[in-house]
Amino acid sequence: MTAYALTPPARAELDITGSDEKFAVRRIYCIGKNYVAHIREMNADERDPPVIFMKPTDAIVKNGGEIPYPVFTSNFHYECELVVALKSGGYNIPVSEASTHIYGYAVGLDMTRRDHQAEALAKGLPWEVTKSFDQSAPVGPLTRAADCGILTTGHVTLKVNGDTRQDADISLMIWKVDEIIAKLSEQHRLMPGDIIMTGTPAGVGAVVSGDVLDCSVDGLAPMQVRIGATAS
Ligand code: MN
Repeated sequence: MTAYALTPPARAELDITGSDEKFAVRRIYCIGKNYVAHIREMNADERDPPVIFMKPTDAIVKNGGEIPYPVFTSNFHYECELVVALKSGGYNIPVSEASTHIYGYAVGLDMTRRDHQAEALAKGLPWEVTKSFDQSAPVGPLTRAADCGILTTGHVTLKVNGDTRQDADISLMIWKVDEIIAKLSEQHRLMPGDIIMTGTPAGVGAVVSGDVLDCSVDGLAPMQVRIGATAS
């Protein structure tokens, strides 16, 4: 048995609806600019290829959790997204085979320091400061594809304090889930345990301490998280 100098960090994991097993998360890939209406609200180029970035797995917050209002921002935004979890992977996965690698789905939030994203875009800087910070990746319980089927349609919705702010259909994605898996696998060897945030529809906005966010995708377990006091 390996002796560690320090206690190893906790493994990132997701709950699975209808199972006592956990899903161990290896990487969190994220897709940006995947709904035309969101690209328009961000004043971005609709014909750009999708943006790919990652979040650290220890940024995951589970259903019912609290997200401290982060340090280093005064414009903290939600982005509600369909999350896809992989059971297998590889390089150069054909679009026609992509769905065979899907373990299941969840609803998630790509929490964003929007003020620093604007700065990063303007200066051509990396996105870690805007996307990859503590508690920036709430993800609800997984629903197995074996239970819900392969998802190609269904509403993705987000409510803040009961008011609907995002409501679109996942069929409106520019890059469909199969194409995202194929595209990602051109750049990275996808592996079991990888999860993918597939991009947010229009309606993104800021939250403040005390706000309650209800997120859902048709057919999947919903997720609720609360924005807490400023992180310290
Ligand atoms: Mn996003």
